[in-house]
Amino acid sequence: MKYFLPDAQDLVDPSFDFTRETRSPDRIRQRDDLYAHEVFRGSRAYDGILLSKGIVEAVGGGAGRYAQSQRLRLLREGAKDFFRLGPGPRTHRLQLMGDCGAFTYVKEPAPPFPVDDVIRFYEGCGFDFGISVDHIILDYRPDWDEKLFGKDGVPKEVRARQELTLELARDFLRAHKRGGHRFKPLGVAQGWSPKSYAHSVRALQKIGYDYIAVGGLVPLKTPALVEVVGSIAAARKPKTKLHLLGVTRVEHIGAFESHGVASFDSTSPLRQAFKDDKDNYYTLSRTYTALRVPQVQGNAKLERRIRAGEVDQDRARAAEQKCLRLLADFGARKPKATVKAVLAALQEYEAIHSPDRSRAEAYRETLEAAPWRECGCEVCEALGHHVILFRGAERNRRRGFHNVWVFYQRVQRGLGRDLQAINRARRTASPRQEAFA
Ligand SMILES: [Zn+2]
Repeated sequence: MKYFLPDAQDLVDPSFDFTRETRSPDRIRQRDDLYAHEVFRGSRAYDGILLSKGIVEAVGGGAGRYAQSQRLRLLREGAKDFFRLGPGPRTHRLQLMGDCGAFTYVKEPAPPFPVDDVIRFYEGCGFDFGISVDHIILDYRPDWDEKLFGKDGVPKEVRARQELTLELARDFLRAHKRGGHRFKPLGVAQGWSPKSYAHSVRALQKIGYDYIAVGGLVPLKTPALVEVVGSIAAARKPKTKLHLLGVTRVEHIGAFESHGVASFDSTSPLRQAFKDDKDNYYTLSRTYTALRVPQVQGNAKLERRIRAGEVDQDRARAAEQKCLRLLADFGARKPKATVKAVLAALQEYEAIHSPDRSRAEAYRETLEAAPWRECGCEVCEALGHHVILFRGAERNRRRGFHNVWVFYQRVQRGLGRDLQAINRARRTASPRQEAFA
């Protein structure tokens, strides 16, 4: 099963100095910064990148993630060069998948991108896979399928989204054939229940798809996801492959392989590093809470409270510096920097920056395990204790990269594969050898 990491221009600055917290003055964003696949030189952290048109181009009045100059360069160079995927042994078999990023226009009455535009975008970027234009159904309501007085309870606009998505998939495949395009087309299945997803899959197979992306999964909890995949599996022809779009619950992902799931994408391992309340640092067996040491300068919430007179700036700065000092000593295994001493400093600062809650117990577990010492990934090797500090994008994003790397190992283990064998094979294989058609 292949894991695709969705792109949101998450890069890190290799010139960042973690002790001084300064950057090279000559650094040029994106050009000098590193993607996760450039950070992990010795091993693989994902099989491909998913790029959404809605991320590259702003829709619905929102701001896109890409600056105008980046967007133009992406289209001029193609995604392979833009993401610096090769040539080279490290990355040349990372695959590229494109979709529309339907979540960016979920509130619009219809997708803002005409089918021909989308195909031009996929072809221009040089993707290996292109996903048809779709419109997300956010509701998960199996009860809507129950008939009452001979009528089911599916709202008109929900059914319209499903029909529109199927119609666009038909147009997309027709245009793909007409244009003789190289990328592999995927049709999207949207639904509000196991039954309605199965309906979409049957319709897409009839249209001619043998690789189907299942959308609208983001809000689904694990039991619902299991139900949907099970229902789709019963409707799928033996040769039909599935891609799960935007999975957030990844516990059962390995079990889905027998249901025809050939690939999926998830941004959760990366995002949880700095968005989750407690699951910030992955290991193979569990997660840990990162240690919050917010910057007094540059932390919007803290600065606001200083301005409002709720927090004394000098006191906050002294507490912050004490945490950083003790954590550095703890990282260097200095005898005086015990778990107890570090924890006391963290709590003292916590009482200033987040007086309404205590993470003492979670922090104690993190410090006692010091999981970064055993990780062995290139981020943890290079950063040491800095990887566990919840502080600024350079640390938080690198912890996200670490999570992606660990997550990939978990997926491979769940599938019973030997990751070292994959990495060995990858180093000797020729480019594009494995592009699965
Ligand atoms: Zn690591």
